[in-house]
Amino acid sequence: MTVPETSVTDSAAAPATRAAAPASAPDVPPSHPRQSEFGFTVGTRLPNGRGRTGVIRTPHGEIATPAFVVVGTKATVKAVTPEAVSDLGGQAVLANAYHLYLQPGADVVDAAGGLGRFMNWSGPTFTDSGGFQVMSLGSGFKKVIDMKAADSSGGDDAVAPGKERLANVDDDGVWFKSHLNGDVHRFTPEVSMGVQHQLGADIMFAFDELTTLHNSRGYQVESLERTRRWAERCIREHFRLTDARVGKDYQALFGVIQGAQYEDLRRTACRDLGAMPFDGYGIGGALEKENLGTIIGWCAEELPEDRPRHLLGISEPDDVFTAIENGADTFDCVSPTRVARNSAFYTPHGRFNLSGRRYRTDFTPLQEGCDCYTCTHYTRAYIHHLFKAKEMLSHTLISIHNERFVVGLVDAARQAIEDGTFDELKERVLADYYAGTGDPQGL
Ligand SMILES: [Zn+2]
Repeated sequence: MTVPETSVTDSAAAPATRAAAPASAPDVPPSHPRQSEFGFTVGTRLPNGRGRTGVIRTPHGEIATPAFVVVGTKATVKAVTPEAVSDLGGQAVLANAYHLYLQPGADVVDAAGGLGRFMNWSGPTFTDSGGFQVMSLGSGFKKVIDMKAADSSGGDDAVAPGKERLANVDDDGVWFKSHLNGDVHRFTPEVSMGVQHQLGADIMFAFDELTTLHNSRGYQVESLERTRRWAERCIREHFRLTDARVGKDYQALFGVIQGAQYEDLRRTACRDLGAMPFDGYGIGGALEKENLGTIIGWCAEELPEDRPRHLLGISEPDDVFTAIENGADTFDCVSPTRVARNSAFYTPHGRFNLSGRRYRTDFTPLQEGCDCYTCTHYTRAYIHHLFKAKEMLSHTLISIHNERFVVGLVDAARQAIEDGTFDELKERVLADYYAGTGDPQGL
């Protein structure tokens, strides 16, 4: 069963070892009348024709794109109030259906009036389908984007070292064990849609199967076909729930493009799902960092131009520029708050760790010139002290700065596309960030 993995370049050059499923007319209604309550308008394009600015219109406001979507996995941006997220320029928040389904339960969020009202965030919201967490926590692989080149020795039943397999996929859905208490749960496309309708976010994602770079090509082909059939089921259930849940705001549904590192599979997925009445698309699954731009580019070439594209889970400034340049309109990432809890802070000259002794008496802000709440009120010495004293406020203050840094970076990229200076900005920002001066002020 196991076929040796090939890299992107190999697969592009060599004939496919196994043909992808042919595109066929999707078994779904052509559209739903309420889809007009969600919209996307393309603004200025980069000369390469893929990267672009735009505006996403939702019932809870507009998102100017490219946009960084702040992650609030459990209906909270860790250690940061919604007011602070808004003040630092965050336009939208993304929560996770899997976590909220387990705790507190989608029925609780529904009874509260939906995700935004529950967490006191008045702007646009996203939920991801839960598929990523069901399957990545299930196999013990928490990260797929930064995976090194595939190791084919793992095979299709691979689990991370020391981990028990907690998720099992079949054609109808997934059985998985809760990471909280080991209870067994069942997710299907219909269950995911039901959960996400109860959560009430403006933008939802179709339930898809996550594969890893460890899976064989044969398995990727099989999985892609399963994700295509699940996409149809998601649309049918989504339209049914849209009709059934009278009086609710329209929730947009994005299809998720899988296909790992294989050009033919990614393009097939784009054509299959592109022919379905999704409101937008997520680019998901196994991506090697060095092929990120190539894979997004294939998707941007194939997907309908008039629908937004979300890149699920990227992290570093170079990834941000690569994603925007190749046609991603929105993306999300947990890194700004995750690294903050380990006292790491972003600056234009790289990422630094505030736990170092040299910050004990450094009475400058985290980043000179930064307009965020943290940098306009506090010093490195103070936050260093909070971190060392294990005071929770250090997480809050560093998280606010880190979110502001990434949001600001993407805002600058958006402006640069409008101004025709994207390449210059990218070159300058990346040169400074990766110069390795070892000093956050670049002195
Ligand atoms: Zn700051």
